[in-house]
Amino acid sequence: MVHKDRVVQEFMELVQIDSESRNEGAISQELKNRFSALGLEIEEDDAAAATGYGANNLFATLKASPGVEAPVIFFTSHMDTVKPGIGIKPRLDDDGYLRSDGTTILGSDDKAGLAAMLEAIRLLQENGIPHGEVQFVITIGEETGLAGARALDRSKLRAEYGCALDSNGPVWGIAVAAPAQTKIFIHVNGRSAHAGVNPEDGISAIQVASKAISRMPLGRIDHETTANIGRFEGGSATNVVCDYVSLEAEARSIDGAKLQAQIAAMRQAVEATAADYGTTASLEDSLIYPSYLHADDSAVVQAAAAAIRSIGLSPSTFRSGGGSDANIFNGLGVPTANLAVGYEHIHTTKEQIKADDIAKLAELVTAIIRLSAQA
Ligand SMILES: [Zn+2]
Repeated sequence: MVHKDRVVQEFMELVQIDSESRNEGAISQELKNRFSALGLEIEEDDAAAATGYGANNLFATLKASPGVEAPVIFFTSHMDTVKPGIGIKPRLDDDGYLRSDGTTILGSDDKAGLAAMLEAIRLLQENGIPHGEVQFVITIGEETGLAGARALDRSKLRAEYGCALDSNGPVWGIAVAAPAQTKIFIHVNGRSAHAGVNPEDGISAIQVASKAISRMPLGRIDHETTANIGRFEGGSATNVVCDYVSLEAEARSIDGAKLQAQIAAMRQAVEATAADYGTTASLEDSLIYPSYLHADDSAVVQAAAAAIRSIGLSPSTFRSGGGSDANIFNGLGVPTANLAVGYEHIHTTKEQIKADDIAKLAELVTAIIRLSAQA
């Protein structure tokens, strides 16, 4: 049913449109053209103005077939890529893999998802498959902290549930969980003094911060919680007792209570240590994206699993260690599973994907839409 040559050709065309994060203007225009040429209605939000990025988030809506009563579902992929993503020259190698010429990424993250969406729409139309309303939500700035999804206009999202097409692994994988991430800024105050003349009058912020870090639980906390100090900055000359240190850290957990406990432990370590030294410190935390966790028997996981089975593959669920737009959509209250698209070595110049997997993904998207109209 899938026209493999056609979806691969489309994929190659899409990756040749430069679209590094913040420069989504050209790819956005091209996607508007392609989705509207297939008869979909295009809407945009105001994410470009809100983020300063090159385009808005796109909402392409496939209207329900006449007489079909089905839940509105959605699929999401992002239109931006990481660097180096300028001048991508894709090629199909003899082993069936699509690759770049080795000087850039390939862009299968996430244009494999986009090509699969467009092919799925054609398959529904060509084969007269009855379907409900489907929203294709194409975000900007996913690769730079989910910037587009975080600025997304929730009022344009009508879907009851859906799938992101943006996970590692073979095409039968379903990411059913991913941790929340919190960014943490720690300020440690000391008191400066001459390091040789009167060090006893000083309080070394470097010593306070170091001691505080040594008292923090860090690294892998448990199977669903991690924490890391990523940056330690402070001090000037060796003859000055350092009066200020700033730290940047993160904590992640699939479990919201565990995430809060981890942040509290880090705060306690830094505040108590500062008090021991007779100084002060503070910790600010901000949630970058929320976690999600879908039970295997939830509607969204069941829908994806049934579709995977219907195309002759065996579904397998797994927990992801990183965040994606799926975290944001789940946080907006729309249950979203993140489907594996088959790409490998993403964010490197060795990125690759099997041509067969893009075709399979198109088949899978078609099956999810087809089955959702039969439920
Ligand atoms: Zn991606």
